[in-house]
Amino acid sequence: MAQIDRIRLADPLDFSYVVCPLLRVANREYFDMAVPKKKISKSRRNMRRSHDALTNVASTECPECGELKLPHHVCSACGYYDGREVTETSDAA
Ligand SMILES: [Zn+2]
Repeated sequence: MAQIDRIRLADPLDFSYVVCPLLRVANREYFDMAVPKKKISKSRRNMRRSHDALTNVASTECPECGELKLPHHVCSACGYYDGREVTETSDAA
């Protein structure tokens, strides 16, 4: 058996036996996906997802044009920041 494995190892294109023994059958054209050894429990899955929640993007109203903008950022609609025009916008010209 070990002898057979050594012969398989000599073939650089056949890694399927390493990944999943069930997929050994003539899978020489492509790499198989890595297959997890064990099922992830609901607890572990949920613990992993505990950091996946999305948070709201902070937004404030532009005092110049009333458009929603990111706080501490130049307004993308009118190009104003802190009461003065900082950048020229296409519709301002
Ligand atoms: Zn604005």
